[in-house]
Amino acid sequence: MAEVAEQTKKAAKGSVVISAERCKGCGFCVEFCPPEVLELASEYNSKGYHTPILVKRELCTGCDICGMVCPDFAIYGYIMKKKSKEA
Ligand code: SF4
Ligand code: SF4
Repeated sequence: MAEVAEQTKKAAKGSVVISAERCKGCGFCVEFCPPEVLELASEYNSKGYHTPILVKRELCTGCDICGMVCPDFAIYGYIMKKKSKEA
């Protein structure tokens, strides 16, 4: 019971690094992200492609599925280190 509430309060487990200039806007990362935390931005990169943005930052798990499906090595996920202090 308390676990659910705790989970929603937790900081993000992971995050992503996006190389917008490598991206070709295929949307694979958006489509295959399990918690659906990515979207294609309305802005374009210099090649004219919409690039992904992390819209639900707190739900990213760092699983790197986005990185595995990206054909252009333009994104990867990583797991963030936990803070050592506990409240
Ligand atoms: S690391 Fe995983 S959860 Fe985070 S954006 Fe990539 S696919 Fe989604
Ligand atoms: S999978 Fe790669 S190339 Fe395709 S939209 Fe995502 S970051 Fe861009």
